[in-house]
Amino acid sequence: PFDVLIVGGGPAGAAAAVYAARKGIRTGIASERFGGQTLDTLGIENFVSVKETEGPKFALALEEHVRHYDVDVMNLQRAKALKAGSELIEVELENGATLKSRTVILSTGARWRKLGVPGEEEYRNKGVAYCPHCDGPLFKGKRVAVIGGGNSGVEAAIDLAGLVAHVTLIEFGTALRADQVLQDKLASLPNVRTILNAQTTEMTGDGQKINGLSYTDRASGASEHIELEGVFVQIGLVPNTEWLKGALELSRHGEIIVDARGQTSLPGVFAAGDATTVPFKQIIIAAGDGAKAALGAFDHLMRH
Ligand code: FAD
Repeated sequence: PFDVLIVGGGPAGAAAAVYAARKGIRTGIASERFGGQTLDTLGIENFVSVKETEGPKFALALEEHVRHYDVDVMNLQRAKALKAGSELIEVELENGATLKSRTVILSTGARWRKLGVPGEEEYRNKGVAYCPHCDGPLFKGKRVAVIGGGNSGVEAAIDLAGLVAHVTLIEFGTALRADQVLQDKLASLPNVRTILNAQTTEMTGDGQKINGLSYTDRASGASEHIELEGVFVQIGLVPNTEWLKGALELSRHGEIIVDARGQTSLPGVFAAGDATTVPFKQIIIAAGDGAKAALGAFDHLMRH
């Protein structure tokens, strides 16, 4: 069995693997796609000490760093169940194998919920974005729309209003769902327009870049079009934790509930990164969190 088995090979899992391996304990990392969300990222400019890099390059560097140590790297492996035995914790893989370990670190990350309209996939990273902290500065002085009137959408609109020329906030329902303080702040901004009761139907472009967005006014049924240079889709970040339901405590959003050391509700099972309740989903935060969970697991091993 492993001393530490990590499930998920994004920034959180990779950092956990490096920290665990450097303690000289038996470390394994199983992941579906090593690199995680960073594989889908164009430019990364906010991982401090790396002024500028590209996602796939960053993902490769994560894997190289992990392989520099004595770590059992199991790529293209999807976990489907977690079972806590009396002594060892078992992780069942989709290929039928079962991995056993004294401690487990869950770092299966999350995915942005997509709208699923024509143009969204085609113009992803060509004007269609999901992370205002990451991509906001690319739209300096331009016109953007934010889709989604919950807390994350309204926060994104307020954040972007300070950077871009104009923000159109589009909400499907007849009212915003964000906290009132955020709504008040939004209403005070001169360069934000809110459109309620609007169903986004398409992102339009010239084949290279996005140039607009179409929506249906749900009250009148009329089809409208807005010209813009960017769209931020903010309709939810979904943690990859469906396979853990019933095995340990999840928040109502499906995030793994962790304490300050990354310990979950199951003794010996730790979690890190976007899959957890830790706020602000960013690479540097996930990586720090992975390091923390590995040290938490090591501490647990010393005491058991
Ligand atoms: P992830 O990166 O999501 O990795 C999860 C890992 O778990 C993957 O290896 C996945 O294959 C694996 N996995 C999932 N389910 C299973 C399973 N059942 N079994 C086995 N393995 C599984 N952040 C920044 O700081 N700066 C940026 O510029 C930036 N830009 C972004 C751009 C885009 C388009 C996106 C989508 C995100 C961006 N982010 C950015 C956010 C950042 O990528 C995430 O916060 C970070 O990758 C989270 O790391 P993680 O390790 O927690 O999860």
